Amino acid sequence: MTQTPARRIPIPPWLASTSIARLLDLLGDARFVGGAVRDTLLGRDVGDLDLATPLTPDAVMSRLEAGNIRMVPTGLSHGTVTAVLEDRSVEITTLRRDVETDGRHAVVAFTDDWDEDAARRDFTMNALYLDRAGDLWDPLGTGIDDAQAGRVRFVGDAAARIEEDALRILRFYRFQAHYGAVPIERETRLACCRRAGALGRLSGERIRAELFKLLEAENPLPSLTALVEDAIWRKIGLPEPVALNRLVRLLRHDPGRDALRRFASLLKDGVTETVMRLRLSNEEAERLHALVSWTIPEWNVGAVAHRRAIYEYGRRYYRDLALLAVARGRDPAPLADHLSGAASWPIPTFPIRGRDLITLGLTPGPVVSDTLRLVETWWAEGDFSADRDACLAQARRILANRDPTG
Ligand code: ATP
Ligand code: MG
Repeated sequence: MTQTPARRIPIPPWLASTSIARLLDLLGDARFVGGAVRDTLLGRDVGDLDLATPLTPDAVMSRLEAGNIRMVPTGLSHGTVTAVLEDRSVEITTLRRDVETDGRHAVVAFTDDWDEDAARRDFTMNALYLDRAGDLWDPLGTGIDDAQAGRVRFVGDAAARIEEDALRILRFYRFQAHYGAVPIERETRLACCRRAGALGRLSGERIRAELFKLLEAENPLPSLTALVEDAIWRKIGLPEPVALNRLVRLLRHDPGRDALRRFASLLKDGVTETVMRLRLSNEEAERLHALVSWTIPEWNVGAVAHRRAIYEYGRRYYRDLALLAVARGRDPAPLADHLSGAASWPIPTFPIRGRDLITLGLTPGPVVSDTLRLVETWWAEGDFSADRDACLAQARRILANRDPTG
């Protein structure tokens, strides 16, 4: 059993907060683990907080209750309770070891042994623990060095760890994208390739979460390229060919780290299958469809056509589509002007509504929206300059010319 901490580090601001101090007072024996510790060590922004403790979930819950801290039993079967503090939530998980795994789920046993808990974690850099005094614990002995050197290494034998849980394949490429040095270790890639068949059994939600986190890396390209070359992309059921060259161009011109936009740059078609496979939300599905199938006018067709596109697609989609046009090979030189134009142009409001047409004598029904749309198109083609009266006059002209039998 690890008896001494590897080193002491300055207490990070998130650990010094009052709410965290109160939580630690209640729990007593608890150490932060995973992302927060790894990112603190590497001087990166810290995301969510995971706390490990030898207390059983029941004991955790009764202590939180005694301290009047709201809790959510997020994953009791694997030992996790979420404490909802004033300023953030903390996931508290009882130290555990995996007793039995079927490639997707693990049967766990609770333990009070920190070394056992470290041994069931995925990568050495994720098995670091930090206590409230600022003592950093590295039960496996190589976690700190691996994190600092960008070595994404499985805890123990890679093949065996992947066998236990196929999601770890995707987690490997994800952590490689964010923390890994290149070139990626050949042996680990081979281990991932060999067991990639098991990826087909994973749920879309879990695949989506890992893939999108990978795509949010500052430079996801080396890891993503490896993932495609290693046929992981195909084995998770995503469509080919994968337009990696488009992502290369997007990264060059797009300062954002939007996962869905990056993802859209990679797809040539197969959006529907992708949406189903990754179980994207309606909003994500809609955006992905738009980004893969819509286009904005060529740069040189004039400002009016671009304002129409901004009006029709909305600012956000226009921006997405402009960046993707460049990713697909369009001249990047005019991009910045078009983006700033789209950001600053005050989008006009169409000056008439359905009820105006009803006042003009139309019977409520589809004819109202059809006519409204015709007037709106005319208004947009005229660079949005017609005012309300002019739009009403145009509506009258359309109605007067209407085929009375149609
Ligand atoms: P992030 O910054 O993205 O939250 P993280 O390292 O905290 O990164 P989580 O997915 O939040 O990643 O998981 C928390 C910790 O739980 C990991 O650091 C790792 O120790 C462990 N863990 C998570 N998923 C697995 C898994 N599939 N197999 C083994 N250990 C895992
Ligand atoms: Mg985390």
